[in-house]
Amino acid sequence: MTGASGVGKDTIRRAAAPFLSDIAYSISATTRARRPGEEQGVQYFFVSKPEFEEMIRSDALLEYADYVGDHYGTPKAPVAEALESGQDVLLELELVGARQVKRRMPEAVMLFIAPPSLWELERRLRGRGTDSEDKIQKRLARAKEEIRAMREFDYLIVNDDLDRAVQEFESIIRAERARAGLVTDAELESYLRS
Ligand code: 5GP
Repeated sequence: MTGASGVGKDTIRRAAAPFLSDIAYSISATTRARRPGEEQGVQYFFVSKPEFEEMIRSDALLEYADYVGDHYGTPKAPVAEALESGQDVLLELELVGARQVKRRMPEAVMLFIAPPSLWELERRLRGRGTDSEDKIQKRLARAKEEIRAMREFDYLIVNDDLDRAVQEFESIIRAERARAGLVTDAELESYLRS
């Protein structure tokens, strides 16, 4: 799931949480400062730059990228464990990281969450009151770059109405899980013996 900071990815995910109870959410590592209300190990694993660099060196990250002056990355082990146990995993990533994941895991379903308008995105970023003017401008510039690349994604959700965005999100997951190509050989065999 990709979309500008402030576009409402977290809000959609939280609203869809009851439906998503059987999906593992990957908690990223980041070097960015904690915002008020954020807790260690809940929204992110907040780490220092040397700690993050050590994660890169020891190949502990599935992907990583820089975003407006900080590092963000997906710890590899929890994703691998969840996938091995048959769970789907939800990643929230900016564009560079999303592309890395798609290269490594072509079966990944790519979802882009877009704001109703850039003006509205700017209003939400400002309303949050957590970033300096310089960071807001940089985040908006990144948002434009990501919007330019939205056609690389499998699905687009425009978050102009939260209820509708959540419904679309759930429908996409339902449809993806119903793909006939996901039936395993063992399931097919057992079906043929039923
Ligand atoms: P924020 O600082 O607003 O929490 O996140 C900034 C951007 O980093 C958002 O676009 C968010 O989706 C992205 N991001 C969060 N975690 C990761 C991650 O593990 N890897 C990558 N590549 N981007 C991430």
